[in-house]
Amino acid sequence: SLTEETVVVVLGASGDLAQKKTFPALFALYAQGHLPKDVHIVGYARTKMDEAEFHKRQTGHLKPPKDDEKLAKSFDEDVKGFTSISSYIAGPYDEDKGFQELNKRLEEIEDQRKSSGKTARNRVFYMALPPSVFTVVAKGLKKNCYTNDGDNRIIIEKPFGKDFESCREMMSALKAEWTENETYRIDHYLGKEMIKNLLVLRFGNVFLDAALNKNYVSNVQITFKEPFGTEGRGGYFDEFGIIRDVCQNHLMQTLSVLAMERPVSFSAEDVRDEKVKVLRCIPPIERKDLLLGQYAASGDKPGYHDDDTVPKDSVSPTFAAMVLWINNPRWEGVPFIMKAGKALNESKVEIRIQYKDVTQGIFTDISRNELVLRIQPSEAVYLKMNSKLPGFSTRAVPVELDLSYTKRFTEAKIPQAYEALILDAFKGDHSNFVRDDELDVSWKIFTPILHWIDGKDGEKPKVESYPYGSRGPEGIDEFTAKYGYKRIGNEDYQWPQTNVA
Ligand code: NAP
Ligand code: NAP
Repeated sequence: SLTEETVVVVLGASGDLAQKKTFPALFALYAQGHLPKDVHIVGYARTKMDEAEFHKRQTGHLKPPKDDEKLAKSFDEDVKGFTSISSYIAGPYDEDKGFQELNKRLEEIEDQRKSSGKTARNRVFYMALPPSVFTVVAKGLKKNCYTNDGDNRIIIEKPFGKDFESCREMMSALKAEWTENETYRIDHYLGKEMIKNLLVLRFGNVFLDAALNKNYVSNVQITFKEPFGTEGRGGYFDEFGIIRDVCQNHLMQTLSVLAMERPVSFSAEDVRDEKVKVLRCIPPIERKDLLLGQYAASGDKPGYHDDDTVPKDSVSPTFAAMVLWINNPRWEGVPFIMKAGKALNESKVEIRIQYKDVTQGIFTDISRNELVLRIQPSEAVYLKMNSKLPGFSTRAVPVELDLSYTKRFTEAKIPQAYEALILDAFKGDHSNFVRDDELDVSWKIFTPILHWIDGKDGEKPKVESYPYGSRGPEGIDEFTAKYGYKRIGNEDYQWPQTNVA
């Protein structure tokens, strides 16, 4: 565990990810006193800039926290402290010279500490870079900045390739330089509070675990909805599409923790063994189990194809629904419906487990139970169940058992996913990072349909268009119904609050 002297090097420090995610997360950890005791942050990128300009960019996205009075008060002072431990050095990604300069800087910082008896050279390298330079930078760092006098760790983030082959290629190139133990692959969904809670909800509750299987569950939906489109980044998005952007990684991680068997322990390898095991039971997604969409202009909102950077003949989906089948004794025959889309009617990520119908007889028209785990916004777990309408009536109505985090955990501060993960990387805890074999199996499931969409098999699939701000393509409700989803309509179920925080 890196609790003492450490240098964090952020490669690509001039970029979007560094400024919007990495530095804000490092800052939040710094302000809360969670960073190693004697820590330095060094930014590295090609852009030439002086220290003042770097600090301006580094702190440009920091905001005083709204949910913590004490930290809000000390914000200005914390920003000053944070920049005082941060510096920048410009250099190329593909020449030894730049990394040798970087190494010199790291040694200077480390040597300054020697007088106080701190001699370890612990180094964490955070790659906030486009994937085109992952490999060359990983090589350059290993050759020039790797130390034998402390721990070396490297943190990288998606995209891990574009399909099974390219991912394997990238992973083996990285593995030639950095061991699995030194590598931390981020999927930021694994840092989200509700995903982390899955282990406890599932295996810490007898009644929940007992009813999570094919005997009781009719279907499962894992849904990602974003209310905005690609907004000027269409050309960039088009190369990937929503399936590579969200489904193959974030939603697949969610599915694997939701569906896996109970691990032997909470240790990283035990948990990841179970995740891989359940993923290996899933055959590649079939063409017939897929629905694709692209958003079209609506009102003053532009359509996906109104972006000039999007190729005219693109069928790259901005919406996708697909079904995954898990061929194991627990889940055989239960459809896992994955839905993800941009430019939809709301912002929401949730897991919706719908149970089977109550045995007919005494009831004829009664709603199904649903267990909903809302990942964002406003974390909540609610179980839709039936209750007798109070009073003289004998009618059964759907109601909910409700755990809303803001109401139940009033004092709790939920850390951002990146904060939680970076802290785990310092601690050396791999549980919430992606192991190489998880990537392998996950890409196997998605590669055939992705190649179909890419046009590798000749004719491309059809894509339905849907209006910006709608719930997605018209066919979506028919699609989920085909796999057994029965909606509890608004006329039957009404959530009492008008204003859900
Ligand atoms: P970015 O801003 O385009 O790139 C980061 C930095 O890399 C740039 O400031 C630039 O720095 C350098 N760079 C850009 N294009 C390059 C090229 N073609 N060759 C060499 N260097 C180049 O990217 P980002 O949005 O920060 O994303 C970094 C990585 O994280 C990507 O793999 C991305 O997919 C992933 N990611 C990003 C986000 C996000 O919120 N942005 C979220 C999740 C994952 P210099 O020119 O100064 O060297
Ligand atoms: P819901 O919004 O009724 O959605 C349930 C399912 O029906 C989803 O798969 C949804 O699809 C689909 N759907 C939504 N509108 C539809 C329409 N017009 N036609 C056909 N299908 C439609 O969810 P719910 O769980 O019953 O909750 C109802 C409301 O109560 C929500 O606003 C929820 O946030 C709130 N609530 C909140 C809490 C809490 O905060 N603790 C607890 C209980 C309920 P898509 O989502 O994919 O579009």
